[in-house]
Amino acid sequence: AGKTAAKAGKKGATTADLPKLSSPTKILFPDSRITKQDVWDYYLAVADHLLPEIAGRPLSIIRCPAGIERPCFFQKHLTAGLERVDTVKLKEESGANADYLVVEDLPGLMELVQFNALEFHPWGSHAQEPDRADRVVFDLDPGEGVPFSEIRKAATDIRKLLEQLELESFLRVSGGKGLHVVVPLNPGCDWDLTKRFAHGFADALARSEPDRFLSTAAKSKRNKRIFVDYLRNGRGATAVASYSMRGRAGAPVALPLAWSELSKLDKANAFSIKDVPARLKRRRKDPWEDIGRIKQNLARWAHNE
Ligand code: ATP
Ligand code: MN
Ligand code: MN
Repeated sequence: AGKTAAKAGKKGATTADLPKLSSPTKILFPDSRITKQDVWDYYLAVADHLLPEIAGRPLSIIRCPAGIERPCFFQKHLTAGLERVDTVKLKEESGANADYLVVEDLPGLMELVQFNALEFHPWGSHAQEPDRADRVVFDLDPGEGVPFSEIRKAATDIRKLLEQLELESFLRVSGGKGLHVVVPLNPGCDWDLTKRFAHGFADALARSEPDRFLSTAAKSKRNKRIFVDYLRNGRGATAVASYSMRGRAGAPVALPLAWSELSKLDKANAFSIKDVPARLKRRRKDPWEDIGRIKQNLARWAHNE
């Protein structure tokens, strides 16, 4: 495994390099009778969109070997049998080094699918420069009883506040309950500043509108308010990748949307693996097309901090 295997896989990314799918008829989503073959087909169909979002980044996966109604687990390190993925040695919080998973190409992606990965969660930095964040993610987590219209409004307001800081942002439905507002950074920013920015932004929101927002993670305090989850921003923190499916009933998908699509959205799990591939074929433009071209960072904000 590791470098050499991934390099070899990269040269000829043909279907010949794909692993063989085992147990294709195994049902992974009992509610909707979605099989491992369906999951495989979905990831093959969206790979051109998903790969740019995960390639070259330390990657965590959620594996559900016996389906979503059985124990699933979050995995960030290389494990035995993976031959088409790359790895990067990174320091753990404990100080020890560990081999983190990195996918570079289609064979790597599909190998993880063969190993029952349902969800893909990258870092907000690349394996080559793990200490430089190139994405800030504001993860809007609604408490009990928050209507979706409030979540929509929160995302719109956050976008406007970011605009005042001259930061352009992008929208994604999580495939779960909430929305993500994503700010690209180019050049990247060290995690310390990135984290302080995200935390400071969330705190300021919660202070100015305490009836709508909170910036502390305690679920008990959340009721009827939206937790502005800034904790996706830190070395080793992850957020679900755009185009990843979720291991939740109906196999919803984390999907990038244009801001103009927000007003007609009525839930965060509105899109599933059954309709996303067709939707991608139909759509005229990738709503995140420009995310890699934008030159902006947190330097201006750092000076006014
Ligand atoms: P929702 O809209 O329902 O909130 P979400 O993807 O935003 O969906 P959160 O619970 O807000 O879900 O975010 C949790 C994030 O924390 C995940 O996206 C994942 O990247 C990260 N994470 C870190 N450790 C784990 C873990 N052990 N299990 C699951 N997620 C984890
Ligand atoms: Mn969330
Ligand atoms: Mn969250």
